[in-house]
Amino acid sequence: MIVVGIETSCDETGVAVYDSNRGLLGEALFSQVAMHADYGGVVPELASRDHIQRLVPLLDQVLEQASLTKQDIDAVAYTNGPGLIGALMVGATFARSLSYTLNIPAIGVHHMEGHLLAPMLEEQPPAFPFVALLVSGGHTQLVDVNGIGQYELLGDSVDDAAGEAFDKAAKMMGLDYPGGPRIAKLAEDGTPGRYKFPRPMTDRPGLAFSFSGLKTYTLNTIQAAKQNSDLSQQTLADIAYAFQEAVVETLAIKCRRALQATQHKRLVIAGGVSANKMLRDRLTSIAAKESATLFYPRPAFCTDNGAMIAYAGCQRLLAGEQEVDPIQPKPRWPMEALTAVET
Ligand code: ATP
Ligand code: MG
Ligand code: FE
Repeated sequence: MIVVGIETSCDETGVAVYDSNRGLLGEALFSQVAMHADYGGVVPELASRDHIQRLVPLLDQVLEQASLTKQDIDAVAYTNGPGLIGALMVGATFARSLSYTLNIPAIGVHHMEGHLLAPMLEEQPPAFPFVALLVSGGHTQLVDVNGIGQYELLGDSVDDAAGEAFDKAAKMMGLDYPGGPRIAKLAEDGTPGRYKFPRPMTDRPGLAFSFSGLKTYTLNTIQAAKQNSDLSQQTLADIAYAFQEAVVETLAIKCRRALQATQHKRLVIAGGVSANKMLRDRLTSIAAKESATLFYPRPAFCTDNGAMIAYAGCQRLLAGEQEVDPIQPKPRWPMEALTAVET
């Protein structure tokens, strides 16, 4: 089955074509980051308009890459939420129009299920069951995964997501969006141990996260350095290091607990923050201590992309699901509401 995947939940237009027999055949992405940079955040209306302009050329590009024509497409998968309502509406309308005109089925995909299944596109995909750490711009969740659509939420953030904390801390350090990769780069020159940031909510049992306090801690540290006339490039790098270390260590502690609680021997990380090198290294050693194996997507599939939507949609289509109801994007959509797919 040849499935086109359409991702438009936020500020990235992703299109891909996945074949259940041959794997990923083509993939393209347009990022709107530069467009939103002047406004200090994503402007929803601009995002929607830009998705409209990008979808047709991206689809043409991907079909060309795959040496396919529209007539070869068997089905179309699109992100149906969670995300920005207008942006979601553009992708959903485009996908359902394709479905209608080509007379092929369409399926609405949960964006976080897409992230969660992205490691399945790699050469050594994880088998079920596993513990998943979803760490992105909008989510920080630990999930007990027993199959596609069989998700039990183990822990969530009570405030900011890890990626959001990276982005906000970066802003305080004078770095552009997205802040995660920029903090990671700056931290390479940081001095380990000069600053020690707190590891929020690790002093009590449970798998919940909180990253809002780390922001305040970062701001206070920067202001104190400023007052001592010590806000040099080196100091900023040292703060970046301490911030990253605190986020990574906090995530690692909870991942270890989740492995112990579930007794699963596989740990999957997905979402933008899973591209973080320090996090991958730290979790590799945590997994080893629990006799478990760590899985993650290639960096390009950690952040938003069409390939993960094509893959996730394909699995549900193969199980006989398809979207027949009127188009209805879901800006909020709990992952636990998804139905299990028999495999
Ligand atoms: P969601 O998937 O929850 O709706 P999103 O789609 O905006 O949110 P993603 O595209 O998965 O999130 O990831 C973007 C986030 O990942 C940003 O917050 C960014 O700073 C962060 N990120 C990307 N690369 C890295 C990295 N190397 N280290 C840390 N954070 C990173
Ligand atoms: Mg994004
Ligand atoms: Fe995402």
